[in-house]
Amino acid sequence: MIKIAFGSVKKDSRKYDLAIYAIDSLFTMANETRNANESRSKRYVFIAEKIAARMDITLERRLKRSYCKNCKTIYGADTQIRLSNRILTIRCGHCGSVKRIPY
Ligand SMILES: [Zn+2]
Repeated sequence: MIKIAFGSVKKDSRKYDLAIYAIDSLFTMANETRNANESRSKRYVFIAEKIAARMDITLERRLKRSYCKNCKTIYGADTQIRLSNRILTIRCGHCGSVKRIPY
């Protein structure tokens, strides 16, 4: 049997849809404020993460890979991206933490 409900939130409930919408909006706002207001951008990512954790939502791959898990900075021009030995390496330009993704 397929488990569709996690915790008390059902996947097809209005609350769940709202959470998805909020997370998407927060990431859009975080992207927009990245250069203008860094701390605010980080705060948006932090809140989006909190909502996802609370509602048992796994962030989409595109969102998950768009920010640094260590310092919550959205990746940008200062981020170093390298491909070697079938591993994608992303180094955060802000805190220097490294994310490795095999491909
Ligand atoms: Zn970082």
